[in-house]
Amino acid sequence: MPSSTSIASPSGRAGSAVRSPDRPRRTDSTEAGGRLIEHVGNTPLLRLDAIGCDLPDTVSLYAKAEHLNPGGSVKDRPALRMIDDGMAAGALTGDRTLIDATSGNTGIAYAMIGAARGLSVALALPENASEERMQILRAYGADLILTDPLEGTDGAQARVQEIVNERPDAYFYPNQYDNDANWKAHYDGTGREILEQTDGRVTHFVAGLGTTGTFMGTTRRLKEKNSDIRAIAMQPDSPMHAMEGLKHMETARVPGIYVPEIADAHVTCRTEDAIDMTRRLARDEGLLVGPSGGANVHTALRIAESLDEGVVVTILCDTGTRYLSDDLFRD
Ligand code: PMP
Repeated sequence: MPSSTSIASPSGRAGSAVRSPDRPRRTDSTEAGGRLIEHVGNTPLLRLDAIGCDLPDTVSLYAKAEHLNPGGSVKDRPALRMIDDGMAAGALTGDRTLIDATSGNTGIAYAMIGAARGLSVALALPENASEERMQILRAYGADLILTDPLEGTDGAQARVQEIVNERPDAYFYPNQYDNDANWKAHYDGTGREILEQTDGRVTHFVAGLGTTGTFMGTTRRLKEKNSDIRAIAMQPDSPMHAMEGLKHMETARVPGIYVPEIADAHVTCRTEDAIDMTRRLARDEGLLVGPSGGANVHTALRIAESLDEGVVVTILCDTGTRYLSDDLFRD
């Protein structure tokens, strides 16, 4: 296993004064000069007219533009909720380091929120995570713990557990895979917003599974409002795939928050189809997003094509600028 780079000192961020995380601040988001993290969530719901151009008038295809969150991904929502809940419970205090395992986007969200709130953040991630992601994390001042690429995010999780076991008092470990705040962020945010933005007309929801927070929380909210809404869970068709952020459940460590029975259907997506759709989204819709967003839209389009009428909603999970050093957008 590759050796760790530096692990954040629990005493605080190098080179910057530690602010008290609970320092009172003004919270009026309508006032000019509002704070960055007040802009997490409430993302636009976009109609994909070009991708859905062959659909009948009675079927529409929408995507929630989660790449427009301040940290560039859907993971701003659960990261903020886990931090807020940790602070409210007294588990996250100014003298503790927030530590977690992440394939990148949750880490970026933790690091961004940590920077905005003066929290120390340490993240374990596989050594082969994209260079852009590592540079972004370092820019926000997070400490990186690099783990064996062959072990994926499961290896990063195991490493974090070891570190926390050694010094439990020095860390706050939100553990996004087992933390109910993860799916609740989507229950209170993503799901509620989709209902509002479609005027309750949504009939199908499609999302790929990673920690499963997006699928679990959004589905629970939609079905609570209307149990006829169909929820389709998607995962990569094989363990070796290029849909960063998604898990092949059969071969991965299954997240504690995952309840497979909540889905009305389970489908798979091939990497080639995800990449083709990711490129089409950029060229035909002007939407530069990552491959899991492409996989979601590919799957949602297949569902939409099978309907006589309906409103299909899916998720654009993160920004495509995070993949520019990969081959994703190269011919
Ligand atoms: N796509 C990307 C790019 C992600 O980072 C994640 C988070 N792992 C997902 C999809 C899946 O989201 P969730 O963890 O909520 O299942």
